Amino acid sequence: MRTAGAFQLNNIVFSLSAFAIFLLFATACDSEAKKPSSASGRHRAAETSTIEVDLKVLSGKFSPDNMPGFASIPDKYLSRKPQYLDARALSALEKLSAAARKAGYDIKVVSATRNFTTQKAIWEEKFTGRRAVGGKNLATAIKDEEKRALEILRFSSMPGTSRHHWGTDMDFHEAGISGPALHNSTFKTGRGKEFYDWLVANAGKFGFCQPYNGDPSERGAGKFAHGYQEERWHWSYRPVAAQYLAAYRQNAEILKPNGFAGDKSAAHFYLDYVENIDASCH
Ligand SMILES: [Zn+2]
Repeated sequence: MRTAGAFQLNNIVFSLSAFAIFLLFATACDSEAKKPSSASGRHRAAETSTIEVDLKVLSGKFSPDNMPGFASIPDKYLSRKPQYLDARALSALEKLSAAARKAGYDIKVVSATRNFTTQKAIWEEKFTGRRAVGGKNLATAIKDEEKRALEILRFSSMPGTSRHHWGTDMDFHEAGISGPALHNSTFKTGRGKEFYDWLVANAGKFGFCQPYNGDPSERGAGKFAHGYQEERWHWSYRPVAAQYLAAYRQNAEILKPNGFAGDKSAAHFYLDYVENIDASCH
């Protein structure tokens, strides 16, 4: 319940600062002060809830189907539905997809926004051995919980730390590619490689970057001890995601993940995984 407590504390701190700002505006008389002098209680409450929404999105503790600013992805882009994105990321996806079509590619979104609950289910299935990782039951293969968490963290996030929470990140496949989704090998030969090369050459024009690119030990000039392996399928809408990353850093202590199997063993290195991304995504 530490997170809930921290949220409360944050709200109190914010309310106090909102009150201080209100006092400032109440005594100032320039034109800028006039708008917030409608800084009535109602107005301040709305600002407080904006901050709450931000932290909820950052930590994944929300439902994308009824979150303001999120939109349902049209079926034509989906291989599995329903899926949601930040509306700004969806708009960029539509432009990227139109350009891809002209080049002969039909982009499919395999997975977009995943909230804390969904990520917790994925994490715990792997942690408890109900879902195999690399063909192994990790609960029996790796007894040490920290080592087991590190094995899962090669490709999967701890709940509360995933960029998929933010509505800015998505996993791509392409309708004409026969290889399995979410496998680097699929994007290293034939049509899969051609599609990946097209993304590398063109996705940046539409604001997209590949956060998990290359060797994690070399990303960030080698300053991170941990990081996700390369994911050729995972793309991020940088203009919004970079803001979320900045907000994550500012609230890192509040956002320290908990509330899932193995959290005590794993949570202390969460920031490396959040921060160790390709330079093109900063
Ligand atoms: Zn992904």
